[in-house]
Amino acid sequence: MGTKGREIIGVDVKELLKLLNKAFADEWLAYYQYWTGAKVAKGLMREPVVAELEQHAQDELKHAGMLTARMIQLGGAPLLEPQDWYKETNCGYDKPVDPNTKKLLEQNIKGEQCAIEVYKKLAEFVKDKDSITYNMALEILADEIEHEEDLEAIVDDMGLVCK
Ligand code: FE
Ligand code: FE
Ligand code: MG
Repeated sequence: MGTKGREIIGVDVKELLKLLNKAFADEWLAYYQYWTGAKVAKGLMREPVVAELEQHAQDELKHAGMLTARMIQLGGAPLLEPQDWYKETNCGYDKPVDPNTKKLLEQNIKGEQCAIEVYKKLAEFVKDKDSITYNMALEILADEIEHEEDLEAIVDDMGLVCK
């Protein structure tokens, strides 16, 4: 990013890059949790669950790309070492040891709820200080809210199927 582009940012760029990389670590771990979850899933409503997990995996990867593009614009770089994802993550990685679809959904709902908090805080951090990052955070936040809603809707449907 050019000199003027950086000059108009009203927050500490180093601190912002740190937050962006922490979210970046979350996105890769979320991607992998969804991706493996979709592979191992078994049980009730397997097909719609797998389709949703696969779609969300792609969205998380897209988020990692959006964060990277902004970090590079800001003169930073994404974490280059996957081991650092574990050090920097806010939301962690919940490995899908139980392939039961209901259990997978519950794990991923927890992840989405954490992601919603992360992007809400990021948006608050840059509000009125860096509109490009602010708009990006809101765009990702909207996706994470939709993810949570989609997963909760499947859990609700399962409850009806089981009755
Ligand atoms: Fe995401
Ligand atoms: Fe998500
Ligand atoms: Mg969805």
